[in-house]
Amino acid sequence: MRKFSGDTLLVATHNTGKLEEIAHLMQPFGVSVVSAGEKGLPEPEETETTFIGNARIKAHAAARATGLPALADDSGIVVDALDGAPGVYTADWAETGSGRDFIMAMGKVHDRLRESGAAQPWTARFCCTLVLAWPDGHDEVFEGKVEGRVVWPMRGAEGHGYDPIFQPEGHDVTFAEMDRWEKNRISHRADAFARMIGGSFG
Ligand code: IMP
Repeated sequence: MRKFSGDTLLVATHNTGKLEEIAHLMQPFGVSVVSAGEKGLPEPEETETTFIGNARIKAHAAARATGLPALADDSGIVVDALDGAPGVYTADWAETGSGRDFIMAMGKVHDRLRESGAAQPWTARFCCTLVLAWPDGHDEVFEGKVEGRVVWPMRGAEGHGYDPIFQPEGHDVTFAEMDRWEKNRISHRADAFARMIGGSFG
């Protein structure tokens, strides 16, 4: 497995919520982060149908454009009673034409669940795939997840995205009711990061 050597990691995201979480996760390793957004890189289209495929598009585009190793995260919420939706389309469900509206997107998840007649608990998981890509085209892939359920109504004001409707297994609060330390200890992203740290940073 190829190792990352350096003190700054280019993160192929324009999502400030994700960037902040990644910065927090990398802090203990003395690695600071800079985002593709801050570098003025364009956001490539995510045309694949898997988390790995889309993470590869983002990581390789950023590595090629800058000549630096780049990390991309593709993630989403997978709801069993919706046959895995929204899955890789998690961000798309929030699109409005004038930015992303996660309140609307969470409402859509709940509406679809109600329409489906599925019995509770509405089991679900957050998945995260990390791709660390080098300018020569090499990459390493790390996958993480956290099991839980969709709850309604939304609860909590922390975090980002779909956090207010996701209650992780073994907890009676949603991700949006946890402080960032707690969420970053158990999240899908933390799981994938632990694998990456053990692999490419070990
Ligand atoms: P992408 O990986 O940028 O394509 O988008 C992932 C989507 O999943 C975004 O809409 C995020 O808001 C959502 N998502 C990913 N991770 C989390 C999380 O930890 N909490 C809440 N929503 C998340």
